Amino acid sequence: MKDKTVVIAGAGSGGLAAGIRLRELIGGKHRILVIDQQDTHTFWASFPLLVTGHRTADDISRPLQDMETHGVTFVQERIRRIDWSKRRIDLQGDSLPFDYLVIALGTRYDYHRIPGFSSHAYGFYELSECVRLNATLSSFTGGTVAVFVASLPYKCEGAPGEMVMLLDDYFRRRKVRHGVDIELITPEDRLTPSLQPAIGQELGRLLAGRGITLRTSANVTAIGRDHLRLASGETIAADLIIGVPPHSGHAAQTTGGLADTEGWIPVDGATMATQEPGVWAIGDIAKIPSPVGKGWVPKSGSMAKLQGNVVADQLRATLLGRRPTGTFRARSACTVLVDAGRGVHITTDYNSPLPGVLYSPSALWQWEKRAVETWWLHRWF
Ligand SMILES: Cc1cc2nc3c(=O)[nH]c(=O)nc-3n(C[C@H](O)[C@H](O)[C@H](O)COP(=O)(O)OP(=O)(O)OC[C@H]3O[C@@H](n4cnc5c(N)ncnc54)[C@H](O)[C@@H]3O)c2cc1C
Repeated sequence: MKDKTVVIAGAGSGGLAAGIRLRELIGGKHRILVIDQQDTHTFWASFPLLVTGHRTADDISRPLQDMETHGVTFVQERIRRIDWSKRRIDLQGDSLPFDYLVIALGTRYDYHRIPGFSSHAYGFYELSECVRLNATLSSFTGGTVAVFVASLPYKCEGAPGEMVMLLDDYFRRRKVRHGVDIELITPEDRLTPSLQPAIGQELGRLLAGRGITLRTSANVTAIGRDHLRLASGETIAADLIIGVPPHSGHAAQTTGGLADTEGWIPVDGATMATQEPGVWAIGDIAKIPSPVGKGWVPKSGSMAKLQGNVVADQLRATLLGRRPTGTFRARSACTVLVDAGRGVHITTDYNSPLPGVLYSPSALWQWEKRAVETWWLHRWF
């Protein structure tokens, strides 16, 4: 077979796994190009640790160019649109033809959907926001800290709970916790709603044990300098406001019209194939029906990586004329830190009608999380 060109659009958790795993599976033949608008990859799962001063931006960032040591080509460009008629991707100044395409563009953040978010709140879902928030925290000595989830769906449903528990730990270490109220506000009816209720209840107990107020089924509609407004008409006063921004998928032209009205791309839940032959979508941008028929598979980095491996296997079969050996099974494992030295561990198989097992707080899980971070930053770069 003549050499083919595989393009991976997006070098995040899913794109890195797909591109590098594919090269490992097929050896030196065929071209693999990975495109990203950024020049740096950051390990998102450590953002709450960056906010609370346990990591620096450099600790958790790596130059994307370094992935080339694995035999893939990195192209730093912004993808503007996919042109199916010419089977090519249009970039800012250039265009790249492809034979096979993996779309791994993640989510976008629509801060403007909550009036006042950009001017009065901090985020912790982007590197620059984490750095800004970390600088502000050091001079915060008392008052109410409100952390809120703007809308559903959002990635990593454990992250807001971890953020408030690390803030509690941070203020205790600084010995100012007695003067700080911490509140978590979310539209969900309980924490981690994709998992069995006992897990959300246990996380709720952990928050309560730290004196953190949890407000569920609450939709924030606007933010002012010193308050949040809820859809119920209630106003919550706050001195420091931190939010998970509204998430959306990508514009129709960037996804070549494969996405639904919210920008998510429906895929086959086993193979990650889209409706377009030779095109797959993985990670946060993919819309995967839950195997037990309840909504959609949640968005997370561990799942994006598994999907990257599955697509690498599908591509290997296509390029080498072999049978694919793997299909995607929606499973994940993650640690939610309860303070800087301990975490709870949650394993999940979404094929079960009541998914999830939670392992009690232990230093072991903090070390597990640290090991994953070290492995991740070493594996791809
Ligand atoms: C605070 C926080 C904590 C988290 N903790 C965990 C955790 O503990 N465990 C876990 O499993 N998951 C966690 N996640 C979620 C995880 O990071 C994401 O689910 C995962 O990164 C999704 O992978 P992806 O490849 O789909 O997208 P991403 O990793 O977001 O990658 C998408 C890439 O596409 C690029 N891109 C987008 N648009 C364009 C364009 N037009 N042109 C070129 N490039 C483009 C972006 O620059 C980006 O590099 C966390 C997330 C956050 C924010």
